[in-house]
Amino acid sequence: MKKTFSRQYLWKTLLVTLFVAGFISFFFSANANTPFEPKRTQHPLPEQTKNIEQTTTASNPSTKEWQELVVKIRKNGSLGAALDRLKISPATTHAINQLKNSHLLTKVRSGDQLTVWVDKHHQLQKILYPKSQTLSHELVKTENGYRIIEKKKPIDIRTETASGTINGSFYVAAKKAGLSARSIMNLSDIFAWDIDFSRELQVGDTFKVIYETKYLNGKYIGDGSILAAEITRNKGKQTHHAFIVRDEDKVIGYYDENGRNLKKAFLRSPVDYVRITSKYNPKRFHPVLKRTRPHRGVDYGGPQGTPIRATGDGKIVFRGWGKGYGRHVKIKHAGKYTTLYAHFSKFGKYKKGQYVKQGDVIGYMGKTGMVTGVHLHYEFRVNNKHVDPLKVKFPDAQPLAKEYRAEFKKSSSFLLSQLERLDGRTNIVRNFE
Ligand SMILES: [Zn+2]
Repeated sequence: MKKTFSRQYLWKTLLVTLFVAGFISFFFSANANTPFEPKRTQHPLPEQTKNIEQTTTASNPSTKEWQELVVKIRKNGSLGAALDRLKISPATTHAINQLKNSHLLTKVRSGDQLTVWVDKHHQLQKILYPKSQTLSHELVKTENGYRIIEKKKPIDIRTETASGTINGSFYVAAKKAGLSARSIMNLSDIFAWDIDFSRELQVGDTFKVIYETKYLNGKYIGDGSILAAEITRNKGKQTHHAFIVRDEDKVIGYYDENGRNLKKAFLRSPVDYVRITSKYNPKRFHPVLKRTRPHRGVDYGGPQGTPIRATGDGKIVFRGWGKGYGRHVKIKHAGKYTTLYAHFSKFGKYKKGQYVKQGDVIGYMGKTGMVTGVHLHYEFRVNNKHVDPLKVKFPDAQPLAKEYRAEFKKSSSFLLSQLERLDGRTNIVRNFE
């Protein structure tokens, strides 16, 4: 009895402690000098790497006696051939090939450059194989033979902001504010369901962005994720917000201040960079049949072979030939929605009965069936009745999963307060004060 009591007491104490600790850490993190500087600096070097290096230096106290050689992989070349040119013994190459992760070194491409260290007896001591700006594969010698390790350089993630007013094109204004082409593209993707950045933004519209930049050894190497953004249109009458939700490094999506998914259950169109050649028209004169026949879809023009994407998640319920449609695919989506895509030159990899995700390529533009030229014919049905895909109001995509909601409430209101501090007329504000 007493035991149970003390255990309960212990749990309660623990819970209270955790709660207080959590509250304190949140309070402090939200009030620190650089309030939104998420500690995302990575130090992924495995513990053992350190040991190996120590062993290496210990057994080779004077690395000065090593000779550093640089070798380039030739066309259709191999690691073995490169080492051979450096007069490293075939037995050593064989030993490397026997290592269980040897592929990290042996999968080479022509033009790759390796740095190789040999000791005064011309024994191989180390190989450095840079794979990218931030990753290298290394061969090191230990008391127990060679080992291959992956070495990641720590990237610093910084948070920056950009804001501005559109004075011509959005692209020009965003560039001027310091956003990279990649971030500009990301931004227009995030708002793609609500704003057509190339056509709908006008002079006087404003934008504010909080985004991450990546640094390696203090040098900028590229933009990271967009954390939050605000677009105002119509002299500030219309405001759009986007806030990121992520799980570790994986971006779950972007949501507005009410937790509404910025994505819709359907893409605006099944092809990128579209040209609409024929709209939905119940009284159209058919060019092949030479009589009035309703056009119950939208036609998109484009070159033969243009990839066609499933506009929403769903199951392929038809994939085959139809007299008018030619090669076509029909997808059943959740609820009451069906989409149809016709006149393909060829199908994508998804077969009848398979599930596809929004954006998956289900086929390629062609001119099969009753057509006069290459195009995609796209139909959208609600409860099996045709509607105009350009006018139908798409349902929202899945709302934010419950597990993220509490955290999102905190992070989005914090980011919103940071957005409010940015002045839309200032072109660039580096870092938060
Ligand atoms: Zn059509």
